[in-house]
Amino acid sequence: MLFRFSKSTIRARLTGWYIILLGCTLILFATYLYSQLETSLLGQLDTALKITASEISTTLVEQNGHPAFKITKDSEAMTHQLANAGFAVRLLAPNGQIWDAIGHYQEVPLSIPRKPGYINLTKYNKIWRVYSQPLPKSPKTGWLQIAQSLEPISEALEHLLTLMLFSCPLILLIAAFGGLFLAERALRPIDRIIRTAQAIGPNDFTQRIAYRGPFDEVGRLAFTIDRMLDRLQAAFEHERRFMADASHELRTPLTVIKGRIGVTLSRSRTLEEYENTLTDLQREVDRLIRLSNGLLFLTRLEQSELGYDASLTNVDLSHLLEVLIEQIQLLAEVENITIVTNIDSCIWIVGNCDHLTSIFLNLLDNAIKYTPNGGQVTVKAQQDRLQARIAVTNTGKGIEPEHLPHLFKRFYRVESARSRSTGGAGLGLAIAYEIVRLHHGTISVTSQPHQLTTFTVCLPLERLNLTLEA
Ligand code: ATP
Ligand code: MG
Repeated sequence: MLFRFSKSTIRARLTGWYIILLGCTLILFATYLYSQLETSLLGQLDTALKITASEISTTLVEQNGHPAFKITKDSEAMTHQLANAGFAVRLLAPNGQIWDAIGHYQEVPLSIPRKPGYINLTKYNKIWRVYSQPLPKSPKTGWLQIAQSLEPISEALEHLLTLMLFSCPLILLIAAFGGLFLAERALRPIDRIIRTAQAIGPNDFTQRIAYRGPFDEVGRLAFTIDRMLDRLQAAFEHERRFMADASHELRTPLTVIKGRIGVTLSRSRTLEEYENTLTDLQREVDRLIRLSNGLLFLTRLEQSELGYDASLTNVDLSHLLEVLIEQIQLLAEVENITIVTNIDSCIWIVGNCDHLTSIFLNLLDNAIKYTPNGGQVTVKAQQDRLQARIAVTNTGKGIEPEHLPHLFKRFYRVESARSRSTGGAGLGLAIAYEIVRLHHGTISVTSQPHQLTTFTVCLPLERLNLTLEA
């Protein structure tokens, strides 16, 4: 426990602050209690003195030309009672001469009052509370003084003080242990969070806190960290898969190049054979260049996520599509593929012209690549109130439903197309997906085996139109 106390600074600090606050509260409370008790006891004494004085003043008689206490059976009993209760009573002449007295009046210091009321008088370290009132009906003017020692009140207050001096440290000690226990309990899940965080290795994001307590601050922290670990794990696995796929894709052409060189060098070749080998090597190198360019482009796209919106400008999408179709027309003619277009004029969107070119070039390239000889490619572009909708449809073998959800993943190619004849790296749709995402748009595919395949891209219209129409 001591080790934990010295180590766990939050626990120690929490308990420390708790004890300081409790200590201050106790001191304030004790001071208030002490002063309240003192005022109350003094008030009670003053009332007793005043009542007794007024009772006595009604029993006074005149004796030898000055006021005196009446001596009857009743009054003697009262005199005894007063003396036993610690009252000292005296009748004072204006010059200070004592005419008559009851109790320990000699112990009370003599003081000639100037006005009626209470005063404290001290003699031999003993404090007396004295009440003076002018004598009522008397032949001579004088004073009735009644006093009682403040000793019982001081003793009661001292007793209270001793009690508090002993009990406060005890309360603080109990509170310290209680506070430490509570802090320990409240912070225990944080220990679990720390242990989980320590257990997370560079290659293992599977650990979770799995907090089961209430959904309070600590519960929310544990939950947030678990969700963060989920995201980290997903990102980590995505990266790992990507690295594995990328190295595999890079290794394949390199192995082909190495094999081809090895075979060619195994014996002397004719010039034509060397030329054939070099042409094959050039194709593989082109493939490698395309692959590394695609990877580099994807990485740059991911890095440009922040501030991407600011770099967008107004683009005439209709014009861009027409130019791209014109470029691809030659390729289509070679394959005897017809391109049908249905493009609305003046579709303006907010976008990056180079990146948009990349999307539609990829889609048109795929459409030509995966359409058999004599097939047809249709490009449709329309706009509604909020977005532009571009659909590229092609005839051909179509795509099996099980492949559709994976088409936009990096390096994914439908099995039949994995034959390296098309030379694709499987990055085109992944790049298109990333660009569309950065443009706050959507891309989707519909296809069935031996039926039409349609890739549809929806992009928000230019900002100016949006604000004007909204
Ligand atoms: P890259 O575009 O990197 O040169 P790729 O064309 O093979 O290579 P993607 O464009 O990402 O890669 O396409 C992924 C896969 O989706 C393709 O391999 C192909 O099997 C399938 N595919 C894409 N477009 C079509 C299409 N229009 N018709 C039929 N299949 C398609
Ligand atoms: Mg492609």
